[in-house]
Amino acid sequence: MAGRREIPLEEVPGIGPARAKKLEKLGLRRLSDLLDYFPARYEDRRAIYTVQEAPEGEACCISALIAQSPVLSRIRKGLELVKVQAVDGTGVLHLTFFNQPYLKNTLRPGETYVFFGRVEVLGRRRSMTNPVFEREGTGQFTGRILPVYPLTAGINNRMICELAQRAVNLYAPSRTETIPEPVRLAHRLCQVEFAYQNIHFPKDFEALELARRRMIFEELLVLTCGMAQLKERRGLGDGRVLDQGGVEQFEGLLPFAPTGAQRRAMEDMARDLASGRVMNRLIQGDVGSGKTAVAAFGAWMCAQNGCQCALMAPTELLAEQHARTMEALLFPAGVRVSLLTGSVKGAARKALLSAVRAGEVDVVVGTHALFSQGVEYANLGLVIADEQHRFGVAQRAALAAKGATPGAPSQMGRRGSGEGQQTASSSPEQALPDPTVQTHVLVMSATPIPRTLALIIYGDLDVSVIDELPPGRTPVATYVVGEDKRQRLYGFVRRQVSEGRQVYIICPAVDETQALPQWGETAAPPLDLKAVTTYAKDLQEKVFPDLRVGLVHGKLKAREKEAVMAAFAAGELDVLVATTVVEVGVDVPNASLIIIENAERFGLSQLHQLRGRVGRGAHQSYCVLVTASKSDTARERLRALCATNDGFRIAEEDLRLRGPGDFFGKRQHGLPQLKVADFASDVALLREAKEAAEALVAADPELTKPEHAPLRRRIREMYEAEPEIFN
Ligand code: ADP
Ligand code: MG
Repeated sequence: MAGRREIPLEEVPGIGPARAKKLEKLGLRRLSDLLDYFPARYEDRRAIYTVQEAPEGEACCISALIAQSPVLSRIRKGLELVKVQAVDGTGVLHLTFFNQPYLKNTLRPGETYVFFGRVEVLGRRRSMTNPVFEREGTGQFTGRILPVYPLTAGINNRMICELAQRAVNLYAPSRTETIPEPVRLAHRLCQVEFAYQNIHFPKDFEALELARRRMIFEELLVLTCGMAQLKERRGLGDGRVLDQGGVEQFEGLLPFAPTGAQRRAMEDMARDLASGRVMNRLIQGDVGSGKTAVAAFGAWMCAQNGCQCALMAPTELLAEQHARTMEALLFPAGVRVSLLTGSVKGAARKALLSAVRAGEVDVVVGTHALFSQGVEYANLGLVIADEQHRFGVAQRAALAAKGATPGAPSQMGRRGSGEGQQTASSSPEQALPDPTVQTHVLVMSATPIPRTLALIIYGDLDVSVIDELPPGRTPVATYVVGEDKRQRLYGFVRRQVSEGRQVYIICPAVDETQALPQWGETAAPPLDLKAVTTYAKDLQEKVFPDLRVGLVHGKLKAREKEAVMAAFAAGELDVLVATTVVEVGVDVPNASLIIIENAERFGLSQLHQLRGRVGRGAHQSYCVLVTASKSDTARERLRALCATNDGFRIAEEDLRLRGPGDFFGKRQHGLPQLKVADFASDVALLREAKEAAEALVAADPELTKPEHAPLRRRIREMYEAEPEIFN
């Protein structure tokens, strides 16, 4: 904050330590923090009515004169009322205040105030209860557009408004302009001072719109500049040359012939790896398209060229599965594969870490534990991240940085929590990877994302698309059924099992409060509150006493989960009851039926992912969506899944039905947190900002020109403030 002293909120008159603590919960520590604490919404309090004309039942402002001394009455302990009448030329307004006895002396007879509240009308009597008020002419909480801020217990909007006003007065005029002047003019953006003033205390709604537009643009510019720099810098990085081996030689290790799309993806990789430039590639392919084999190619290439590969999965379950697959594929070629997750502990962990450090392991498969403290690679050549929507841009950046400095302390530890202050050990440029990074990065994703967004979210990557499924796959036949079909469904499960197949049954969550269908002799409606544990037990005891039923859910210990999954994969279980832990990537080709209970509770894209657990082998596979919902929209939504097996079309339908808020609500993209912008609704500005960013970075790659210094600083802050790096 150029030129102005920082003021801790504690030192602001009227705050003190207790309130300062509460404000800290909102992330507010210094007065200047209020500048970037934006209102959640605005209340238009501009219109001031007469008592007579004030609209009934709506919150509005009335200007009126206190006509008498307020009367305080104690109804009982803990209930005190102050009553007073206010008048204007048109009528009388009866005011009542609860438990604010001091108002008796605050409201002065003969003074005119503006009251803001909801007008109640009873016969001819007009009244307000607990209105906000201030002397006429003050114009702080009435007669204007009032910002409404996100609050926390013990902190009211009035307090934040007052702090924000102080902050705007003190800091907005000297706030440095982040957006370079030519960019600001070219995109018709207002100046920084105007923007801060009007995003907090808008003069009118046009001014607010101008302010918002600028703030959104600024945020997106900072974001996309960071991305452009990432791409630019990585492009500069000399890549380790991995040119021994090749697609043809690798194919011999596969138990199947790769599809054309898989081969293309591998060839893209082979070209990148041999190019002398560092690879940053995304493999995008629908569930079941065979991304794992492509990953195995990368791992094998590393081994052929005497370096290590780290393969990172989002869950332990998947890491374990990948480790098994890699081992099976690559062991015959003499490649040494190890598994490193949080559950590998004690002596085993120590031994594994020293083997990794000594280069005695070629492929390390694991979760984010792969990059935790104390893990050092002898010679890391390639990092592969599976199901990358669980990993963010910042994580990718951090990953790549890991390879730059083998043996050096991790750069991925948590940083000072968004203080924007530099510690001695983190130089400005470290939030983005060093240009000399040599670790290749491959990310794999099955999450279909609409095109414009993909451009941003994967803006730092080259993309290979696997747009072809392995041969012999018939699409998964999908049905929506109600409770009335439950008995037939049992029969169907039995038939599949008697043919040697296996069955998944997915329940929404492990939570006692969730309703699950009740199993029993009769098909009872799903009224009972049951946990998945009870559900599985009943299923085993009452419905399928002769079948082998297993249960896996997120609250099991990793060991237990692993044991159940391994048993299912080995064909030792016929039916696996599971929560969504099997959503991503789990591969058991012999499973041919997946039943999803309470299907209406899932998003379409999630259902599509779940459905991808079957149809992975040669057998005709089925997905049955069970719902007790009678709602037409719920059923129509589910039927969209019956109509297509195309993940992209389903994602678009999902987006259309649920709206962008839900689709991107959970920060699936993993980009740094945005304060004002919204990826789905600000697409046009996003495109403008991206173009501006690319032009800026092309002309001044490191943004070292003096006029770019504020922008550079903001980029650093944004990417550093990403708190979820390896969590
Ligand atoms: P995903 O892209 O969802 O990660 P997987 O890599 O798990 O898909 O592959 C799904 C299944 O298809 C696995 O059982 C795998 O062995 C099989 N598979 C992959 N590629 C081929 C292929 N070219 N021919 C036959 N089967 C294949
Ligand atoms: Mg997979």
